[in-house]
Amino acid sequence: MTDNNQKSVTLVGTPCHIIASEKMEHYSNILGDSPVDFKLGLFCMENFSHSYLKEFLKQNNIEMNDINQFRVEKGHLWAYLKNGDVFKAPLSQAKVCMRKNCQVCMDYTSELADLSVGSVGSAPGWSTVIARTEKGLKALNKAETKGYIKTKAIEESGLALLEKLANKKKTENREEIKKRESVARPVLYRRYINDEEFIEEVSSCQFKDLKSDVVDVGSCVLCGACYYVCPENIVSIEDRKPQLKGTCPPECNLCYVACPRTYLSQEVLSRDLDQKALGNYIKIVSARADGVDGQDGGVATALLNYILDENITDEVIVVDKMDDNPWKPEAIITSKTEEVTNAAGTKYSAAPVFKVLKSNHKMNPNTDSKKEVS
Ligand SMILES: Cc1cc2nc3c(=O)[nH]c(=O)nc-3n(C[C@H](O)[C@H](O)[C@H](O)COP(=O)(O)OP(=O)(O)OC[C@H]3O[C@@H](n4cnc5c(N)ncnc54)[C@H](O)[C@@H]3O)c2cc1C
Ligand code: SF4
Ligand code: SF4
Ligand code: SF4
Repeated sequence: MTDNNQKSVTLVGTPCHIIASEKMEHYSNILGDSPVDFKLGLFCMENFSHSYLKEFLKQNNIEMNDINQFRVEKGHLWAYLKNGDVFKAPLSQAKVCMRKNCQVCMDYTSELADLSVGSVGSAPGWSTVIARTEKGLKALNKAETKGYIKTKAIEESGLALLEKLANKKKTENREEIKKRESVARPVLYRRYINDEEFIEEVSSCQFKDLKSDVVDVGSCVLCGACYYVCPENIVSIEDRKPQLKGTCPPECNLCYVACPRTYLSQEVLSRDLDQKALGNYIKIVSARADGVDGQDGGVATALLNYILDENITDEVIVVDKMDDNPWKPEAIITSKTEEVTNAAGTKYSAAPVFKVLKSNHKMNPNTDSKKEVS
């Protein structure tokens, strides 16, 4: 929730971004008010390191600049080239580029979002949309009434495939988590604790603990939440891992509180969700937006444009490509629908989306260390 002086924001992002946002909102008594008021989650099986992907393609004589669109489907990474050629590599080969943190991720469909959007489950040129909250359902229905999107019932076979893949991710990655825990590489975010225990556990944790508990053990999703909440502005997150560029005052633990890969209490992420392939939801449909050149049905872009046109939030965070580094994702915050439309399409690399909030969305944290949850 936002205070009166702060602009409200819609975040579009991967499930780990959505979890980070939910966590920051839950601990707003400690971190300060979160500006994110609407969460548009994407489906996500895995993500890639931009530099490793670039290198992998180079070994196959392809430059990032040659590529018009990436897709990950049917067990392959596909690159559609500007000259009309198509390159495909089995995911077993492309695995060398995958981010280690994705192997311990159990959320395929952005279970904590207001609306989730993905390709699996719907025909080519359509997106699958899951409405999870009343706010999400209302936006979906109104966007259709106002002509931004059209929807139809999802086919049974599509829903079955979606559930199968979501279950596969939960099952396989749960095994990886167990494996890591057994060799003393903790996966803290999957431990079962409640809010009271959370406050106790994190009370004396600082960036050095974030580094050892999350970054050094291959759990960091590169979301930028630590950078955003740091009141001392001493976290840097450029291309790769977050780093500390100063000294932490003794009482501060905000980066550790906000990070989606330190502890997640059951009040943030209910463990019931482990047993539900797609999490909790109200409605699932197939949808498309005519006139949007999106990754699938262009629905994410159309919904964001509807949200801006209707002033549901003042701004949105989207992930565009850098001009000088092809396919390198770059998060931007904007209130302009043209910029949202330009940012359509999937960039298969991690983007520290919360970084863009730093300059003009202060959280006003509670630093007096008497930390309680609202
Ligand atoms: C890393 C990644 C993995 C994915 N894996 C799957 C999958 O396994 N199965 C599946 O069904 N769908 C997956 N998706 C979602 C899918 O690729 C489409 O984004 C989704 O179907 C929406 O399509 P659209 O045409 O409606 O969206 P569009 O209208 O094209 O809009 C896409 C939106 O995604 C945002 N975006 C692009 N790249 C990123 C990024 N790296 N991080 C955060 N936001 C980004 C853009 O800001 C844009 O607003 C994945 C997306 C990402 C980013
Ligand atoms: S951790 Fe990886 S697989 Fe999980 S949501 Fe984030 S990018 Fe996707
Ligand atoms: S000052 Fe606080 S938020 Fe910043 S790095 Fe140190 S512990 Fe983390
Ligand atoms: S360490 Fe920072 S960038 Fe990495 S997951 Fe945690 S908050 Fe996000």
